[in-house]
Amino acid sequence: MAEKDKEPKKHNEKSKTSRLRRNTREASLIQLRQRFREEFCRKMSEWAKACGTPLSADTPESRSEREQFAKAWSLVHGYIVKSNALWRLLYAGEELRKTPCPLHKGRWSGVGEDPGCGCWSYGNITGWLAEQPDNPDAPRPPVMLVRLKS
Ligand SMILES: [Zn+2]
Repeated sequence: MAEKDKEPKKHNEKSKTSRLRRNTREASLIQLRQRFREEFCRKMSEWAKACGTPLSADTPESRSEREQFAKAWSLVHGYIVKSNALWRLLYAGEELRKTPCPLHKGRWSGVGEDPGCGCWSYGNITGWLAEQPDNPDAPRPPVMLVRLKS
């Protein structure tokens, strides 16, 4: 093989190595962001629990504030854990959707197949049109199992 034929191969290997490093670095960054978001959520819950837990040093006023906080947090936390929109903002890197779907009119309409109206995302019929397509690298949203009473 002539010397000049070896050069492009070396370049190709170099570029493969460079691409592999870049992909590895991007994968590490994705994992790092994922861990940060999970840690953020864990710390928020820890903080909220501490804020809502009565202390022996509480005055009647501060105890009442803690009780009000715990009640409010319980309500907000309920919305947080079931929100597909918040999941998309935090984990899928989506911007907040601002245009209601003409068919579903801004109302979350369940989990299922894509109805083709442009508001479906990661299995959810969001009720809002996507500002951008789903990120194929985003982790899948958690699936909530619901036991139906018979
Ligand atoms: Zn729709």
